[in-house]
Amino acid sequence: MTTHRAHCLILPYPSQGHINPMLQFSKRLQSKGVKITIATTKSFLKTMQELTTSVSIEAISDGYDDGGRDQAGSFVAYITRFKEVGSDTLAQLIKKLANSGCPVNCIVYDPFLPWAVEVAKDFGLVSAAFFTQNCAVDNIYYHVHKGVLKLPPTQDDEEILIPGFSCPIESSDVPSFVISPEAARILDMLVNQFSNLDKVDWVLINSFYELEKEVIDWMSKIYPIKTIGPTIPSMYLDNRLPDDKEYGLSVFKPMTNECLNWLNHQLISSVVYVSFGSLAKVEVEQMEELAWGLKNSNKNFLWVVRSTEESKLPKNFLEELKLVSENKGLVVSWCPQLQVLEHKSTGCFLTHCGWNSTLEAISLGVPMLTMPQWTDQPTNAKLVKDVWEMGVRAKQDEKGIVRREVIEECIKLVMEEEKGKMIKENAQKWKELARKAVDEGGSSDKNIEEFVSKLVTISS
Ligand code: UDP
Repeated sequence: MTTHRAHCLILPYPSQGHINPMLQFSKRLQSKGVKITIATTKSFLKTMQELTTSVSIEAISDGYDDGGRDQAGSFVAYITRFKEVGSDTLAQLIKKLANSGCPVNCIVYDPFLPWAVEVAKDFGLVSAAFFTQNCAVDNIYYHVHKGVLKLPPTQDDEEILIPGFSCPIESSDVPSFVISPEAARILDMLVNQFSNLDKVDWVLINSFYELEKEVIDWMSKIYPIKTIGPTIPSMYLDNRLPDDKEYGLSVFKPMTNECLNWLNHQLISSVVYVSFGSLAKVEVEQMEELAWGLKNSNKNFLWVVRSTEESKLPKNFLEELKLVSENKGLVVSWCPQLQVLEHKSTGCFLTHCGWNSTLEAISLGVPMLTMPQWTDQPTNAKLVKDVWEMGVRAKQDEKGIVRREVIEECIKLVMEEEKGKMIKENAQKWKELARKAVDEGGSSDKNIEEFVSKLVTISS
């Protein structure tokens, strides 16, 4: 006998930054009595280091079971084949679940995979698009989709005004795929997220109302938007889910003990935590500037350098650090980021501004020093600096490199100067608002409740 109130099939795009928020959202739904099945690709499942989650996971195929996106060669080839093979294998999974007495009622899909709506329609299911970017970024892609925003901007465009965006933005603040001509086909895919959005029942966004009021109000007139974030484990926010410890699905193995032992020996708010997320490839020259900037700063640092990036560290860098002090810096291949951000020793997050990392820093009240690399990161950095006033942005030189002196200066600004105090106060304010949003009766909690109750009505 089934005891659940409805059954949602969750379809994330297979990458760390996309699966994390959808998994956390799934856990929230599950705590409200909704059965969850996550469908992800065989190739992605093979890369998982940690598979400790209470939700059930089923495999579908992207057509590249042995190597996923790397096997496909290009991103566009990958997405094209994924649509073909993914649609078939997703349909087979829905049939299998129905035959096992546990029919699906709703598909929650990543709009990078818009074909999921057609599969939902074929089976008469309701559907919800789950945007893993924030609403401001979605709004920019929407304007490109509508042809309202003429991009790429020309040299003469000093500022771009986007309805619903609370401040003017420059071309260096728009997502990189919008301004880089060689990324035209990736932009197509991003813009395509909106192609069948008029057919969905809900548009879920990993953000919270208080953070992006103006743009959410604007977009809500067009789409049935519900903000449901921040989607980080409950134990860091409202403590309502009992066994909610970590992100349960990880492509990399975190060096948890090393990081926490090291942080436990540092002074309160004294450490710069540095990470560029799961995908960014930092240029060798930039890596070198960053390394010496961190070493020259008078702060200790914890730096995540993924194993594929390690060879870019300057020669003798680790030895040189030890000459300064045993404690000066810890370089690890992956860390438990939420535990690091939450740690009392962490005082500043030098981040690439991936949306998950940014939202995690907001939710845990950690001031940011932003060094965006590509995709939506420049827009997130703009919001952090000028709208939420929760950090600074390190300025690049004309070659696009942030120099060591600039890094040193920015660290000082955030951690020691008067401006840093204002940033810290704002960080505390946003942390409180983020917690309230997911807490009982908060804006995101209400939205999730409403989503579940409509789902239950449809399913019964
Ligand atoms: N992360 C982590 N350990 C690390 C670095 C990152 O657990 O050492 C997590 C981080 O908490 C975030 C995700 O990986 O949830 C990265 O997502 P984000 O959107 O910030 O960046 P992306 O990897 O998509 O560029």
